[in-house]
Amino acid sequence: MELSSSLLTPRRPTRRITLGGVPIGDGAPITVQSMTTTKTADVDGTLAQIYALAAAGADIVRCTCNEEAAAEGLAHIVPRSPVPIVADIHFHHEMALAALEAGVQGLRLNPGNLRKEAEIKQVAAEARDRGVPIRIGVNAGSLHPDLYKKYGGATPEALVESARNELALFEEVGFDDVKISVKASSVALMIASYRLASETFDHPLHLGVTEAGPPPAGLVKGTAGIGALLAEGIGDTIRFSLTADPVEEARAGRQLLESLGLRERKGLDLIACPSCGRAQVDVIAVAKEAQEALEKLNLPIQVAVMGCVVNGPGEAREADIGIAAGKQKGHLFIRGKIIRVVPEADMVSALVEEAERLVAEGVEARMAAADTSAEAEAEADRRALLESTGADPNHTSEKIEIIRRHGDDEVRH
Ligand code: SF4
Repeated sequence: MELSSSLLTPRRPTRRITLGGVPIGDGAPITVQSMTTTKTADVDGTLAQIYALAAAGADIVRCTCNEEAAAEGLAHIVPRSPVPIVADIHFHHEMALAALEAGVQGLRLNPGNLRKEAEIKQVAAEARDRGVPIRIGVNAGSLHPDLYKKYGGATPEALVESARNELALFEEVGFDDVKISVKASSVALMIASYRLASETFDHPLHLGVTEAGPPPAGLVKGTAGIGALLAEGIGDTIRFSLTADPVEEARAGRQLLESLGLRERKGLDLIACPSCGRAQVDVIAVAKEAQEALEKLNLPIQVAVMGCVVNGPGEAREADIGIAAGKQKGHLFIRGKIIRVVPEADMVSALVEEAERLVAEGVEARMAAADTSAEAEAEADRRALLESTGADPNHTSEKIEIIRRHGDDEVRH
């Protein structure tokens, strides 16, 4: 399948790093990251969450390493994890050394709160000897105080300089196995900072809007920031930071990459029309029922639920499969071609059954098995609906006339 990412700005060339066997940068598939919320010392609880994150689409998982017990936990977690583990380090360089000893495949250091040069170099030298990459994780909220003063606040220049300073220390010990993040909770600041970082470094960039908050606002902020940059060709690995079950983060990351055509579809993509005056069913209820039934099967296809047969099959002709309502019936279609007409009460069950068959047998086989009278029946239903509701069921012309009259009145006053 050709990914629609070819329509986006070409990806910015970066150097390649490898984190526990997962390539990042230099054209590698963009990876999804998330972070556990369990105590890392709780080995079984943390592993259960890591497995859930991997199942939801995470390629890499980060765990905090904030105390000795966490480092001990990591030593048991890393060998049993299905994905590479990154240890998140703040303030204490000994925790970075302990995490490396525990076998983690990556480190994240925050230059804003781990500031002693000798300690930073010691960690970089140890990571170099073990072949473990480090993320320089700059955060606008915990920017180095000197830089805050120099720039009068957390500006894109300040964030990028923080990363550059850290990188210079790493280079003094011959280490540059690095990816960089310059996160902020302000979407505009985050976008400007990553743009500057992409002009400044050729290291892979880890994208994220930090402290985005609970969904749906957190999802909107993350999507706005990460999506804008990905569309510009910037970014090699991503993380949504949500105040929610981290499985939501992994799922959102994966869905964003799939929706931009940057990763192949792994799961279901349910699209549905927004409904309008033409709708012949409660589209919201039918879409919800279909989503619940199809999500359990996790089929890697795009499924459309459309409110009317007048416009539905045509508007959703890019979908692998779909259903459109009309005249108390469901009109089942594959790539826009009507293959079967079923009673309205069976819409969802027929859709689910056909979706399973489509994945098992392929498009050609299911098209060949189409009911030969279905197209004609759908066309008759379409015409009947057009006649009964007219070409303008939303009364758009009437509304335009009212607005126009209102405008004339305003002018006269
Ligand atoms: S015209 Fe039909 S398919 Fe389009 S939004 Fe209205 S109900 Fe949905």
